Amino acid sequence: MAGSDFDLVILGGGMGGYPAAIRASQLGLKVALVEADKLGGTCLHVGCIPTKALLESSELYHRLSARGQEFGVEADKVRFDYARIAARRDGIVSQLHKGVQFLMKKNKIEVVEGRGRLRDRNTVEVGAKQLKAKNLIVATGSDVKELPGIDFDGEFVISSDHATLAAKVPESICIIGAGAVGVEFATLYNQLGVKVTLLEALDRLVPLEDEDISKEMLGTFKKAGIDCRVGVRVKGAKKARDGVSVETDAGEVWARQLLVAVGRAPRSKEIGLEQVGVAVHPNGFIEVDEWMRTSVDSIHAIGDVVGGFLLAHAAAHEGMTAAEDIAGQRVAPMEQELVTRCTYSHPQIASVGVTEKQANDRGRDVKVGRFPFSALGRAIIHGETGGFVKLVADAKTGQLLGAHIVGASATELIAEPALTQLFQGDAWELGRNIHPHPTLSEAVMEAALSVDGRAIHI
Ligand code: NAD
Repeated sequence: MAGSDFDLVILGGGMGGYPAAIRASQLGLKVALVEADKLGGTCLHVGCIPTKALLESSELYHRLSARGQEFGVEADKVRFDYARIAARRDGIVSQLHKGVQFLMKKNKIEVVEGRGRLRDRNTVEVGAKQLKAKNLIVATGSDVKELPGIDFDGEFVISSDHATLAAKVPESICIIGAGAVGVEFATLYNQLGVKVTLLEALDRLVPLEDEDISKEMLGTFKKAGIDCRVGVRVKGAKKARDGVSVETDAGEVWARQLLVAVGRAPRSKEIGLEQVGVAVHPNGFIEVDEWMRTSVDSIHAIGDVVGGFLLAHAAAHEGMTAAEDIAGQRVAPMEQELVTRCTYSHPQIASVGVTEKQANDRGRDVKVGRFPFSALGRAIIHGETGGFVKLVADAKTGQLLGAHIVGASATELIAEPALTQLFQGDAWELGRNIHPHPTLSEAVMEAALSVDGRAIHI
């Protein structure tokens, strides 16, 4: 198209948008990135990064205060100072934010501050500015969802945004929703000694995970003192006695604060999608194909606003896929089944591919391998013997179809089965890989060997 200022304009500078901008720039495109708030988006400012920083502090505090003696460490009067925990959180976010700003300069990406919207198929409008480009990428992300009738006030009824940025912790909290947000915050508060009640509408914690993972989580959470109530319907909530009273079909729960963690909704409204003709599903997510192309040929869309797994690393991968497609490269399609899912609760959860039930529901004949961390030297040394690795493989071919890990460092361990699945590898190949000893990664190897009854330590 003649008369374009840019080859590519990206709307949204989160974990989808900014990696897309970098990849496009690497491929020789002239790129502008429009950001209404801060580069780095939800992940960097109110999501993955600050919450994991908080969890690192709570884990250290918990290990020293509750378990120091077990390791021969006398740690008298261990206490935490939440103001300093919060300051460390903010320092980490600020350091990484500067890093992203530097990367924009290094890659010669023009960052335009302000709220943008699509004006036509090749133009993004930001205030009085019009940015014209051959191609556009929509990467506007998502917002926390409210429960009807239970509005956030930021003080008594809070979202994960409020909880992440809070300057202190309450003495008690009720959490609605036991997805990733719910179980991570339940872990944080529980490790800091806050009384936690966790309410989940479905019949198990982390309902998207393999059923065996949900069982393990429930057992561990209960043992840790978290009051978990599954299959509970929330009817309403009101301010009461300097806290919140939550009415459920199984009675009342009172806590100083209520955290509503029932999912996220796409930011697809008021950005000009309808006028330009981009197809949006009735659930609000933009419709895309495996190369992140929308119904309008000059416009791609990536990240939370297109649905699938609302995860930062999925968004980044989608961003790179879109940028490469726009640059005319032959690029492999985005495959949701290859997205690793990681939850930083205690115990951690990580998975990739299909669950055993999903495989069965699809009529696949499968064999399953398992290995418990309790049988592994490194896990015993680490003092983290809870949990297991479970692998699902095709019964005939042995091809790895899914991996489900609950326990220490699960979020690190999942990368290896994910690579095996990317290479369409078999369980025996994963078991054949010579793993370093003593490491937690041996649990993956042993689970892979156990698919064919060949594990050594069980
Ligand atoms: P989620 O959709 O994963 O979980 C929400 C849970 O709330 C579900 O289990 C649902 O059954 C339950 N729920 C819904 N309505 C309810 C009600 N009225 N009463 C009781 N329970 C109810 O959403 P989330 O945990 O809020 O996370 C939002 C998104 O952010 C997800 O896509 C998640 O994967 C992502 N996220 C990822 C990470 C991570 O990867 N570590 C961390 C946080 C969030």
